[in-house]
Amino acid sequence: MDYQKMQSLNGKLALVTGAGQGIGAAIAQALAATGAEVICTDILRERAETTVRELSSMGFNVRAEQLDVTDSTAINALAESLPPLDVLVCNAGIVTNTSAEAMTDEEWDKVIAVNLTGVFRTCRGFGRRMLAAGAGSIINIGSMSGHIVNVPQPQCHYNTSKAGVHHLTRSLAVEWATRGVRVNAVAPTYIETPLLKDLESQPGLVSRWLDMTPAGRLGKPDEIAAVVQFLASEASSLLTGSIINADAGYTCI
Ligand code: NDP
Repeated sequence: MDYQKMQSLNGKLALVTGAGQGIGAAIAQALAATGAEVICTDILRERAETTVRELSSMGFNVRAEQLDVTDSTAINALAESLPPLDVLVCNAGIVTNTSAEAMTDEEWDKVIAVNLTGVFRTCRGFGRRMLAAGAGSIINIGSMSGHIVNVPQPQCHYNTSKAGVHHLTRSLAVEWATRGVRVNAVAPTYIETPLLKDLESQPGLVSRWLDMTPAGRLGKPDEIAAVVQFLASEASSLLTGSIINADAGYTCI
């Protein structure tokens, strides 16, 4: 068995949503560093271009596209304009902290629209082309919040959206299993990214998270990127419908 070849993404075309910063930017780097041509997309073109500038300076084959994952028309148009993807990473996501009783319809709808409906629309748009080609690996970024409810942050919309991402992943995996397209998800613990900034500033919150984590630490974007790279490669050829917990043991206790 040629294990190096199994892990390589040489000659593969990949697309990452929300790749302008945080986990998405790290995923783009991991895929590019192992041989893929990577299309970095984000809701803000300038932000996707920032990632591309940085990765290009390292010699990687990357380019930027603006893409809002809630926009079916834009997703389908981009999918039609590209060859079928080998790897799709649905990473874009948002969060707010609001109690259920104070949450407005708009706040609920927005988080569900980006985190859950956006993943569905992106999988559907690019997945159609992958199915026609009979190959591909889709990786969705879920969360440990899709398994458990994180006290004390009130995020019922976010938690529900991520549980939905996990079950959408399993549903698509079953539908597409005999047609060459694998669909898996990663469920991270708290990862040090801009998304966490508001939460981190709340007194005592980080130390509480650390107390609740068996390994006693948060995660880093490149630790999620490495799991995604595995799921993108042939090294994970037997995996479909898997939700991989990358959470330093958080959901074990
Ligand atoms: P960041 O906020 O750092 O990055 C997400 C990127 O997605 C941002 O550039 C954001 O833009 C962009 N984005 C937002 N809405 C859309 C949209 N409609 N279409 C396209 N892009 C959009 O987040 P992280 O890197 O921390 O998170 C990445 C993923 O990992 C998310 O799905 C998140 O839920 C998940 N996750 C993160 C954890 C963490 O602790 N950080 C833990 C578990 C899961 P903008 O900033 O303008 O909103």
